[in-house]
Amino acid sequence: MKKKPLCEKSVKEWVNSFPILDKIMALDPVFWENPQYLPFTKQLESSLLVSKNQVNKALKNVAAFSGYVEKAFPETKSSKGMIESDLVDIVSMKKAMENFWELNIAGRLYLKKDSHLDVSGSIKARGGFYEVLRHAQDLAVENGLFKPGSDVSIFQTRKFKDFFSQYAIAVGSTGNLGLSIGILGKRLGFNVYVHMSADAKQWKKDKLNSIGVTVIEHRADYSKAVEQGRKQADTDPNIYFVDDENSKNLFLGYSVAGQRLKTQLKEQNIHVDDTHPLFVYLPCGVGGAAGGITLGLKQIFKDNVHCFFAEPTHSPCVLLGLMTRQHERFCVQDFGIDNLTAADGLAVGRASGFVGKVIEHLVSGVYTLDDDNLYRLLAMLKDSESIYMEPSAHAAMIGPVRLFQDVEGKKYIEKQGLSSMMSRATHIVWGTGGSMVPKEIQKADIDMGKHFLSYSGQ
Ligand SMILES: *Cc1c(COP(=O)(O)O)cnc(C)c1O
Repeated sequence: MKKKPLCEKSVKEWVNSFPILDKIMALDPVFWENPQYLPFTKQLESSLLVSKNQVNKALKNVAAFSGYVEKAFPETKSSKGMIESDLVDIVSMKKAMENFWELNIAGRLYLKKDSHLDVSGSIKARGGFYEVLRHAQDLAVENGLFKPGSDVSIFQTRKFKDFFSQYAIAVGSTGNLGLSIGILGKRLGFNVYVHMSADAKQWKKDKLNSIGVTVIEHRADYSKAVEQGRKQADTDPNIYFVDDENSKNLFLGYSVAGQRLKTQLKEQNIHVDDTHPLFVYLPCGVGGAAGGITLGLKQIFKDNVHCFFAEPTHSPCVLLGLMTRQHERFCVQDFGIDNLTAADGLAVGRASGFVGKVIEHLVSGVYTLDDDNLYRLLAMLKDSESIYMEPSAHAAMIGPVRLFQDVEGKKYIEKQGLSSMMSRATHIVWGTGGSMVPKEIQKADIDMGKHFLSYSGQ
């Protein structure tokens, strides 16, 4: 074995610097408070790689693209092509969780149902759609077929479909990003290649095959699938690579959610201010979705929003990246962690360096959880609220439990001076996927969850 393979240090030296690594490497669930977390000042905001201006522009672009989305996907007619999810009070689920874990979750608990977003049934309908539509628009502009600011709904026409069919899009995915890019890419007329990691569920590959997407299966994990997609795109200038690890547009597509949530909170009369803190729990793969939404929320709610990321104990790449501040330079396997989890959307061994650097001072902390709990929560949510979400999405659900249960979580509340206002807190669990999962798989997931619920209390 090489002595110092990891950014000039051995594993042992890293463990000496960060004792919590012992637990992480033993696959024990941890709650890590981010020591780099800073007040969201003007100065901090202006130092970030993504600006408020860019997010506002993205917000306008998304609104403009809705003209196309409404025509191309008639199921979005009622929302006029704006793909947005509901924010729902899940008071029965809160009670179920409080009973099961024997604690009190102070404040109210809401679910943001990106699990049920139109067209692609996951959070990827934000980032993936934005990226593909931006690319389509760029191509049309470059070729003199379209002027920025005019009506994008003409992308629906035969002429544009024929034009886009000369081009291809490639992407690496654990499943949902491929679905999102594949569904929209094909509808626009592009050829689409999805490089799937070994974790990808069969039904996601079948669905893509059925709409004419070329699915390339890899036996390795997500990082490898991305690498292969990138390689393929390098060979042909007509292939555009959607780079989940580095794409700013993908990130901007997610960040738009901040402004959207603000509107929704207002509509529902939910206050977020100096005496009403907002806690948001986000499942995290490479970090793009969670990171984009965190930035969007921070720009609006500043220090009154507290964002926590959730990762499986077997795939804590963003936790490792943020803690060591090495971001993409580490993969979980470097620390002897296998990246094997039932949470396919989170089975990512290497974090995005771009995202890590944007959010390193914005995210309040990261916690990890076991797969067993993903299934317990899945069965509990179905039973209490009649809502199904895929296992990955439930990484967020345990957030409020962990905030009040773990020593580090309690410390965070105290240190931020929030103890006296927790009864007025709002907790939002960001549900990230599930509505497209076939019924028989939903049933198997629920049965598995019931099984875990019946024989263990933790
Ligand atoms: C992609 C995905 C995530 C995480 O998104 P990243 O951008 O990889 O961090 C979470 N949940 C589900 C269901 C997903 O598909």
